[in-house]
Amino acid sequence: MTGYDVLIVGGGVVGSSIAYFLSANGDSRALRIAVVEQDSTYAHSSTALSVGGIRQQFSTRENIALSLFSAEFFREAPRTLAVGSEEPDLGFQEAGYLFLASSQGLPVLERNLEKQRRLGADVRLLLPGELGARFPWLNVSDLSAGSLGASKEGWLDPHSLLQGFRKKARSQEVVYLEDRVIGFSMAGGRVTEANLAEAGRVPVGQVVNAAGPMAAGLARLAGITDLPVRPRKRFVYRIQTSASLPGCPMVIDTSGVYLRPEGDGFLCGVAPPTTADPDTLDLDMEYGLFHETVWPALAHRVPALDSLRLGPSWAGHYALNPLDRNAILGPHSDIQNFLFANGFSGHGLQQSPGIGRALSELILHGEYRTLDLGRFSFHRFAEGALVLEENVV
Ligand SMILES: Cc1cc2nc3c(=O)[nH]c(=O)nc-3n(C[C@H](O)[C@H](O)[C@H](O)COP(=O)(O)OP(=O)(O)OC[C@H]3O[C@@H](n4cnc5c(N)ncnc54)[C@H](O)[C@@H]3O)c2cc1C
Repeated sequence: MTGYDVLIVGGGVVGSSIAYFLSANGDSRALRIAVVEQDSTYAHSSTALSVGGIRQQFSTRENIALSLFSAEFFREAPRTLAVGSEEPDLGFQEAGYLFLASSQGLPVLERNLEKQRRLGADVRLLLPGELGARFPWLNVSDLSAGSLGASKEGWLDPHSLLQGFRKKARSQEVVYLEDRVIGFSMAGGRVTEANLAEAGRVPVGQVVNAAGPMAAGLARLAGITDLPVRPRKRFVYRIQTSASLPGCPMVIDTSGVYLRPEGDGFLCGVAPPTTADPDTLDLDMEYGLFHETVWPALAHRVPALDSLRLGPSWAGHYALNPLDRNAILGPHSDIQNFLFANGFSGHGLQQSPGIGRALSELILHGEYRTLDLGRFSFHRFAEGALVLEENVV
């Protein structure tokens, strides 16, 4: 079996972005690069089940910078990711994110907004009167303010982004193997071979863990038992209504419930309470959270949604890093040729361009060259240097 200089395990949006950026870099010309993906339908991948939101409204400076880069990338993607005359249509809609705050949440909102603006994000503070004038369908009676991304925020079609990266990477000589990694051979503190269910043992130079919610299981195959990535189920409810909400952005209510337009209806959801958020890889659908939490919060915030119909809804998995809810990137402390691209905690789709660029720099040059993501290293857990993200939806 041919060996590969770089073997990326997981061909979702993160693995495929890494494959694209790596193969687009002239310095990688001599490298043999492969992506192993166990299910090329992606039916259960986080990418396919994502809501596709992009925002700069984070509390961690690296996340703000990553999403600024992503927005530029998404605008240009039809040209950058074109293969021949075929240009991907990502359906990038810059309709904004609107984070709402009560008097209690206002200081945090203002602190984060100040940081976001300092780093170049086009985010504005709207007081209740301005909110009511701009979004007459919104109940502002108990709000102190909202922060609205005026550009570079909104949503896109996750499937188109994934296919865009994948097709472009393949056109740049990246090999996609439909197979499953079931083990690794180690020698001298390095991974030497990946064991694939169908193809058997494959010699490898560097391995990238891009296995999404299954990342901790993949790391265990290399003897790494402490990767803090948990598969956590999130429900996306589709609702249909005769109500019209002109100019509706992605609304993040004070309750944590989100709402955004999709086709002739809306998508909405909320993170379950931590006491009811077990690790699971099942995708069974439940509606209790909708009836008990989501709908009452929506009907309060948008009275026109007092009456609605549930449409086809779905569940997907976040790859949650429960320690600080941020990505885990780069080499393992001891196994230097095993790299992580994990733990995106519900914001990995929008970060995929910046993560692809960053990992390609690490692989080719052993260091970040454009955006320093060193604070997201695996070592931070041993060093107690957590980087807490406050804005996880
Ligand atoms: C409901 C929901 C809403 C979301 N909303 C947003 C959002 O609004 N904005 C945003 O930025 N992000 C959002 N996310 C998060 C985002 O979808 C993920 O962070 C992102 O898709 C992660 O991509 P990935 O490539 O790491 O993982 P995945 O897409 O899960 O890909 C990992 C791949 O690895 C493969 N794999 C695993 N183990 C193996 C193995 N041993 N061998 C071979 N292949 C393997 C799997 O088959 C899978 O295809 C959301 C996620 C969900 C579930």
